[in-house]
Amino acid sequence: MCSKDKIQIVVAGGGISGLVYCWKLEQQLSKHGISFEITLLEKNARLGGKIETERYKGIAVERGPDALHMKGPEFISLLDELELKEEMIRPSAGGFFIYQNGEFQKVHEGLLRPFPHNLRAIFLNKDFSLFQKIRALVGGCLPFPSLQKDAPLSRFLRYRFGKRLSQSLFEPLVGGIYGASPDKLSTAYFYSDLWKHRFALPLLVLRIWLRSLFGKRKGRPNFIGMATLRDGLASITSQIEQKLTQTKICTESKIDSVVYHDSKYFLKLSDKSTLVADILCLALPARESFQFVSQLAPELRSNLTDIPYTSSAVCTITLRDANFTKDFLGTGFIIPEEECSAVAACTFTSKKWPGREIENEDILRVFLKERGDFRLTGTPDETIGHIALSTLEKLFKEKLNCTSIHIKRWEKTQPLYFPGYPDLVSQVTNTCQLQFGDSLILLGEIQSSGIPANALTASKSATLTANSIIKRNILSHSLPSTPEDIEKKAVGA
Ligand SMILES: Cc1cc2nc3c(=O)[nH]c(=O)nc-3n(C[C@H](O)[C@H](O)[C@H](O)COP(=O)(O)OP(=O)(O)OC[C@H]3O[C@@H](n4cnc5c(N)ncnc54)[C@H](O)[C@@H]3O)c2cc1C
Repeated sequence: MCSKDKIQIVVAGGGISGLVYCWKLEQQLSKHGISFEITLLEKNARLGGKIETERYKGIAVERGPDALHMKGPEFISLLDELELKEEMIRPSAGGFFIYQNGEFQKVHEGLLRPFPHNLRAIFLNKDFSLFQKIRALVGGCLPFPSLQKDAPLSRFLRYRFGKRLSQSLFEPLVGGIYGASPDKLSTAYFYSDLWKHRFALPLLVLRIWLRSLFGKRKGRPNFIGMATLRDGLASITSQIEQKLTQTKICTESKIDSVVYHDSKYFLKLSDKSTLVADILCLALPARESFQFVSQLAPELRSNLTDIPYTSSAVCTITLRDANFTKDFLGTGFIIPEEECSAVAACTFTSKKWPGREIENEDILRVFLKERGDFRLTGTPDETIGHIALSTLEKLFKEKLNCTSIHIKRWEKTQPLYFPGYPDLVSQVTNTCQLQFGDSLILLGEIQSSGIPANALTASKSATLTANSIIKRNILSHSLPSTPEDIEKKAVGA
C-alpha cells in the first residue's frame, strides 16, 4: 500500500461527481505542497457513470443524459477550465409539446420551467384565460410558504400558479421529467433555490419578468437554458480524466463494504483486497451510498432502507424515411403520468441538436418509466423496444421503418424525492458530520440532480476537504508530536 506519511484519500465512483472532486482536490492540494494520494475506485470498466456518449454514423448519441440545464455562470467556468466552452451548442429552435387528451399541446420555450418566468410567453398563450394568467403572475409573487414542513409539489404549484395552469402545464412537465406524479414529489427538494431566496422573491420575480419583456442586455452571455457539447457529454468526463495526473484510477474496482475504526476507513473491494483511507468520498448513486452509510452509522439504517427508487430506460431508435418527424414542429414531447403510457418523453435528437442530422434517417430518444402496468425489471429489451416503437406509431398514425434500436436500462437509479426527503438527507448528513467530521463526504444525486449541479457540489466539497487538510497540516507542523520532534525543536531553539 501507499506510504504512511501521505494523506490517503479514496473516492468511490467515477461519474461526474467523483471525477470533479478528484480533479479539484488534486489541484488545490498540489498548490499547497501537501503530500497526498488519491485513489479513484470505479466498478465499471469505463469512467463517466451515467454520462455515456456513443457514435452512430459519426454522430454523437447519448445513452444517458443528453442536455446540460444551465442555471448560472459557475458551470460555464468549469467548462472553460476544461477547454470546452467553445464546444457548447444550444438546441435548434422548435417547440416542445405535452401530449394530453389525445392532442399535442405546444409549450412556449419561456414556460419550459415550472415557474412562469416569461411574461410574453404567458400572455401569448391562447389556452389560458386572462384571469388565469393574472392569477399565475400574482401567485409568482406570493410569499413563500414555510417549507420546514415539506408539501407535495402539486399542492404547492396549484397554490402558487392556480389550478388550471398547474394541472395542464407545470405538473405534467415536472412529472414527465422526474417520472413520478407531482403528488408524490417534494416541494422543498425541487424549489430549494427559491426557498433560499424567499425573502427577496418578489423583487427577483419582478426582475425576471422585466427582463423577459425588454429582452436580454446586448453582449450578455446566456447562462440559462439548455445546452450540450458538440462531441457529446462524455467530452466533459474524458477532459477531466486527462487532467488527473496524481490520482490513481482503478476501474473494475467495486467497494463491497466499509468499516470505520481508529479514525480510518477500511474498505473491502470485490476482488477481496482492502484499502485504508483517512478521507472517504462516496460519489455513488444514492442507493449505493446509503448502503455504505448504513454500515457506518447503523442507527440510520431503518430510515434509509425505506426510500423508494425509480427506474427508467432510454430507447434510442433510428428511423428511415419517417414522415411524422418532418411534419412535427418541435424537438420533442412529454406524456404526463395520467395518460398511463410507459413512454414518458421523447426527444428528436436529429432535430434538437444542430450537427446531428443524418440523411434520410432520424434519431429519436424515447424515455420510458415504470407507469401503469409497465415494470422495467423482468421486461426483456425486445419488449421495451416494441413498446417504444408502437407508441410512436400510435401517436403519429404511421407505420415506421426502424433501422436500429438500442436499450439502456437505468434500474432503481434515482430516489423518489418524496415530501420529507430533504429532512431525511439533512438527518443523514448531520449524523455523518457528527460521527466522522470532514473525513466522510457524500456526493452524487443525494442532494442535487443533474450534471451541472453535481459537478458544482463536487467542486465545492473538494475545496472544503482541501481547506480541512491544509488546516490539519499546518496544525501538525506547528505542534511537536513525538519525543524526537520535541528534541529537534528544542535543539533548533
Ligand atoms: C436516463 C437519464 C437521463 C438524464 N438526463 C439528464 C440530463 O439531460 N441532464 C442532466 O444534467 N442530468 C441528467 N440526468 C442525471 C445525471 O445523469 C446525473 O445527475 C449525473 O450524471 C450523476 O453523476 P454522479 O457522478 O453523481 O453519479 P453517477 O454518474 O451515477 O456515477 C456514479 C459511479 O459510481 C459507480 N459505482 C456504483 N457503485 C459503486 C461501487 N460500489 N464501487 C465503486 N463504484 C461504484 C458507478 O459505476 C458510476 O460510474 C439523467 C439521468 C438519467 C439516468
